[in-house]
Amino acid sequence: CGIVAYKGKEQALPILIKGLKRLEYRGYDSAGVALYDNSVSDIKIYKKQGKVKELENLIDGKSPKSGVGIGHTRWATHGEPSDINAHPHRSHNGRLSLVHNGIIENYAAIKTELQKKGYTFESQTDTEVLASFIDYIITSEDCSLEEGVRLALTRVVGAYAIVVIAKDNPDTLIAARKGSPLVIGIKEDDGSFFLASDATPIVEYTKKVVYLKDEEMAVISGNQMTIKSLEDVEQTPQVHELDLNL
Ligand code: GLU
Repeated sequence: CGIVAYKGKEQALPILIKGLKRLEYRGYDSAGVALYDNSVSDIKIYKKQGKVKELENLIDGKSPKSGVGIGHTRWATHGEPSDINAHPHRSHNGRLSLVHNGIIENYAAIKTELQKKGYTFESQTDTEVLASFIDYIITSEDCSLEEGVRLALTRVVGAYAIVVIAKDNPDTLIAARKGSPLVIGIKEDDGSFFLASDATPIVEYTKKVVYLKDEEMAVISGNQMTIKSLEDVEQTPQVHELDLNL
């Protein structure tokens, strides 16, 4: 239901938690975050059914220090509200993790195909299927994370906003949308990026935003952002100035 993501020089966790609280008004049943852990070059996930406060209690200051992270408040559509069904979801072999708003309508058919190839699933969600589908495409097409996300999205039916992080790409966030909103805040002075379902978590950090359009993806790598269509055509981002007083 709500997405927040951060990449920059600050600690991601407090920014994600604060952002998730700002999105609480949208309603949700579970909350979670994934943080890139530099010390082990892996992604740590913390997720919990219930309020953001309960997620904070679960983390209890024990998460890795990280400048890259994604967060989510879930409104269950596929699979009951539970710790396991909460986002972020990891792909089958742990290569990538993602948060997702919306519904992947053809997830059941994709899940069956992936199960035939030996993929296993922990949750009942459509989201975990998307995570493993991207993973599968990266392996089967021998392509980059960015290309794997793009190709997977051209083959799914449904509505989504997603943000993806991956083990082997510690300095990258990939976001995409179709039918669910996603706003990207850009703070140029320190090269940081704030992503969210709406501008309320972003406005206190920067007023410069790009509204991702339907069937577009954003690739944020280092302090650069590229926007392209799912057809792989680079787009010129339109930067807007927020004039919200929150
Ligand atoms: N369909 C996904 C799920 O049930 C995402 C729901 C949402 O938008 O929060 O986990």
